[in-house]
Amino acid sequence: MKPLSKNIIIALVAVLVISAIFSGVNLSSEAPEDISMATLVSEIQEGAVKSIEIEGAEITILLQDDTEQTTRKESAVSLSETLIDYGITAEELKAADITVKDRSTRSYILGVILPSLLPLLLLMAIFWFMIKQMGGANNKALSFGMSNAREMKDTKQKVTFEDVAGAKEAKEELQELVEFLKHPKKFSDLGANLPKGALLMGRPGTGKTLLARAIAGEAGVPFFHLSGSEFVEMFVGVGASRVRDLFNRAKKAAPCIIFIDEIDAVGRQRGTGMGGSHDEREQTLNQILVEMDGFDPNIGVIVVAATNRPDVLDPALLRPGRFDRRVMIDLPDINDREAILTIHAKNKPLAEDVKLRRVAERTPGFSGADLMNLLNESAIRAARRDDKKITQEDVLDSIEKVLLGPERKSFVMSKEEKKVTAYHEAGHAIVAHLLPNSDPVHKVSIISRGSAGGYTLKLPSEDRRLHKRAEFIDDMAVMLGGFVAEKETFGDVTTGASDDLRKCTRLARELVTRYGMSEALGPRVFGESQEMVFLGKEIHEQRNYSEKTAEAIDAEVDKLVRGAMETARDIMRKEKAQLDRIAKELLEKETIEKEAFEALFSPAAK
Ligand code: ADP
Ligand code: MG
Ligand code: ZN
Repeated sequence: MKPLSKNIIIALVAVLVISAIFSGVNLSSEAPEDISMATLVSEIQEGAVKSIEIEGAEITILLQDDTEQTTRKESAVSLSETLIDYGITAEELKAADITVKDRSTRSYILGVILPSLLPLLLLMAIFWFMIKQMGGANNKALSFGMSNAREMKDTKQKVTFEDVAGAKEAKEELQELVEFLKHPKKFSDLGANLPKGALLMGRPGTGKTLLARAIAGEAGVPFFHLSGSEFVEMFVGVGASRVRDLFNRAKKAAPCIIFIDEIDAVGRQRGTGMGGSHDEREQTLNQILVEMDGFDPNIGVIVVAATNRPDVLDPALLRPGRFDRRVMIDLPDINDREAILTIHAKNKPLAEDVKLRRVAERTPGFSGADLMNLLNESAIRAARRDDKKITQEDVLDSIEKVLLGPERKSFVMSKEEKKVTAYHEAGHAIVAHLLPNSDPVHKVSIISRGSAGGYTLKLPSEDRRLHKRAEFIDDMAVMLGGFVAEKETFGDVTTGASDDLRKCTRLARELVTRYGMSEALGPRVFGESQEMVFLGKEIHEQRNYSEKTAEAIDAEVDKLVRGAMETARDIMRKEKAQLDRIAKELLEKETIEKEAFEALFSPAAK
């Protein structure tokens, strides 16, 4: 049911109940007989009347035999006068024992105030429904200066540090905040200033939001959740007033946590120009700084912010007294990945053959969110097979789905295209297998996934943070392996290699300009890429080198790419027979797994 129709029904029921109450007032006492004024006169003359009560225009008559009767008079004229007009004598009037009663408060409320108030109340109710309606739509005309922070006090789905796998150092840092929030007095008694803010930094999906909720859960305090982009709206000044409102609400609820997610949306360096909402953002950021300086550090409000772009934050946010606790959250290593998988596998029935350790081995570079998604995809795959349990195959297959996108079974390649793809992928795989610094091949396939026609999956055998120049050089040769294989086999190249060429060129350029790995140009960084994000892309690179250097960079990039091409070509010429064999196998089986692939290189296979 739509909320509007529901509200109308509620309003109708309310009206019905109210009218029922009103009619109930009259029905409740046994209704006395209604008589005319003339009957009353004759009753008085007969001496049948014991007493008369007047209440406003309402007249209640009690007869000698204790029966009750009612009648009405003109409200402006007194009853005595009316009766005298009817020819009642003074004695008879006296005997009738007339008492005049004030209107009772109850009947006054029911009879006078409520009827006049009722339309007003109804109007107010209708108004209220309308405003609620509007709030549901995008029109927040009446509340846009208020922060729309969601307060979470949920004890039901409380998150604790136990729900966050790995991130050991981060948890240790944050444990301190939990202590502060739990016993603010203990610290302030010793004259220690409580920290005002903590900044969580890390790539998307590494569990920053989760950790912030865990702090609140551990300390058992309210949690105000707001995303940086929610501050910034069309109207100038709204962001600042939202910040003010948010901090006011938080101060009332202290001790508590204010969580500003994606703070880079408002906390970017000020004064870098460009982008329309730039003024508004500055005002919002200024207001955050003012509020953070403004409150007493000992009332127990802690501002936790998260970002995946700490490099673009305004230095003012990072100075002491603001976000002075800074916590870096890394991508999980193999042990952490296993732990994260274990947490998310808890409510999923796994078949006996599932080895989460093996899955963790195969997923370097996956974030916590990726791993959660992976298990979810596995469950979906198992459900589609009508199985009650998730098998290892479900999980392994889903790794590729998460990495490369879903299989496109409907994507039909012509025979010719299939052959080109087979040689292309075989080319990548052979170069990767034969070069010492390249990651081992896990799988080669000519089933298209996502945007790729086929794919060669190679995975590092261990987590690596540092990369050697030799690895980059070999990687470039692997990237060109497909291109070279096509050229050597068919004497022509296709557009299928364009993505490889782009990646290879970019890597070569980064080698020269960012990593200082070029011999000719030396250990220097060229160009300062300025953070001006427009449609999610950096569009501006500041050149801090001469035209001559630019030429030298181009020449160096060219040399690196050509070198990689030659390496790949040498391998392809020497391994022509092997290339044919793998391509043929691919055309037959479509997919070759690691073991089968390595077996093709054994002397027996040749
Ligand atoms: P971020 O805010 O860093 O982008 P989130 O905190 O929103 O990432 O993480 C998304 C989801 O990924 C979480 O809800 C959680 O289910 C899962 N996740 C991420 N990291 C972990 C972790 N270390 N342990 C358990 N689950 C995690
Ligand atoms: Mg987040
Ligand atoms: Zn390719």
